[in-house]
Amino acid sequence: MEVAFVGAAAVPAAGRTVRRAAGGELVCTAAKPRLNTQRSTEIFEQAKKLMPGGVNSPVRAFRSVGGNPVVFDRVKGSKAYDVDGNEYIDYIGSWGPAIVGAANDEVNEALIKAIEKGTSFGAPCELENELASAVIDAVPSLEMVRMVNSGTEACMSVIRLMRAFTGREKLIKFSGCYHGHADMYLVQAGSGVATLGLPDSPGVPKSTTAATLVAQYNNLESVRQLFEANEGEIAGVILEGVVGNSGFIVPDVSFLKGLRELCTKHGALLCFDEVMTGFRISYGGAQAYFDVKPDVSTFGKVIGGGLPVGAYGGRREIMEMVAPAGPMYQAGTLSGNPLAMTAGLKTLEILRRPGAYEQLDKITKRLSNGLLEVAKETGHDMTGGSISAMFGQFFSSVPVKNFEDAAANQDGAKFGKFHRGMLERGIYLAPSAYEAGFTGLAHTEEDIDKTIEATRDVLKTL
Ligand SMILES: *Cc1c(COP(=O)(O)O)cnc(C)c1O
Repeated sequence: MEVAFVGAAAVPAAGRTVRRAAGGELVCTAAKPRLNTQRSTEIFEQAKKLMPGGVNSPVRAFRSVGGNPVVFDRVKGSKAYDVDGNEYIDYIGSWGPAIVGAANDEVNEALIKAIEKGTSFGAPCELENELASAVIDAVPSLEMVRMVNSGTEACMSVIRLMRAFTGREKLIKFSGCYHGHADMYLVQAGSGVATLGLPDSPGVPKSTTAATLVAQYNNLESVRQLFEANEGEIAGVILEGVVGNSGFIVPDVSFLKGLRELCTKHGALLCFDEVMTGFRISYGGAQAYFDVKPDVSTFGKVIGGGLPVGAYGGRREIMEMVAPAGPMYQAGTLSGNPLAMTAGLKTLEILRRPGAYEQLDKITKRLSNGLLEVAKETGHDMTGGSISAMFGQFFSSVPVKNFEDAAANQDGAKFGKFHRGMLERGIYLAPSAYEAGFTGLAHTEEDIDKTIEATRDVLKTL
């Protein structure tokens, strides 16, 4: 089979034939391409002396798939380029923000204009109104928002708000759902530990996580039991409207509707963490896609267009608890800075253009269906799918409905080998079996077809 790897750094190994393709690019015909990652390795070795694990966010270190990470030099459209000159089709897109294509020209132009006026004011600016109204117009449940600097900050603030508004302290989250790294969300997704509310990380006080109760995704009964055992004490329920942090897991609509009813019945608030799903599953997020109205929501990733932004919002009466309108304190030196607002605004403007979500859906379905077909053809168990610009597959013979299913049924060792094989063929996938994949408007049918070819190639060797 041909075209295993196409790129500037395709190095022909002994016994391989190399020729120029019609387009002039170098084409290696070989069973196993080799990736030159010398410069990446040097930089990463140095990084390990300077930063814990060599990174500023853990998954980037590739620990769960083995091998060293590649160090990026630049990104453009659907592509990433590493410091050794290798080109990759990128299915992470900076973990979501690059939905209109990385280093989008329109976003860049807007940023260059904005930077002339200053990067941060620490004072009101009109761009804050513009992004706030764009977000409020997009998401049916929002009447007011507050801008912060990350998804973590948004989720950390929203729980304070849920507690302030209800006068209650307990929180229900789901195993396998990620809401940033604030203390109260770091509760392990394991049966005994979960029920005891023991923290997932040293340094997190038991007293902080004791109020965090853990239920099972797509299992309404597990939530009902927690409500009944803690009557009048639950401030709210937080969830990912489509899970992306245990791999890609789709909710049952009845589960979401049931959560809405349980929260209303027990006087608790329902929070959709749309940090990943906001403006990705649909322009109105997972809540618009599934037609469920939460009380409060959090955002991040896409709304910053590649700059650090998060937001939380909800009904006016709830949001007016937040200082200085109300007594709940929350603040930020760089919150709402004009650069971040500009990148977010331009990104949302591009997403509002007719056909954007149809295109995202079409291209991602092509990918997801192609992966499943190739798995079948090569005799590997695979399950999964996509919604709009989010996708994910598990090496599993049974459907995955929650974190427990993912942990019990998938073949993690196989994923590690798969990941490395794909990387060697110029396909950059999330370096963990517990992460979803992201596409954007810059991904082409050609990108998808190359990805499917590479998948066939790798799966044949596993
Ligand atoms: C990424 C993510 C967060 C945390 O956002 P950061 O910007 O990384 O702090 C929170 N919730 C969900 C669902 C996420 O995917």
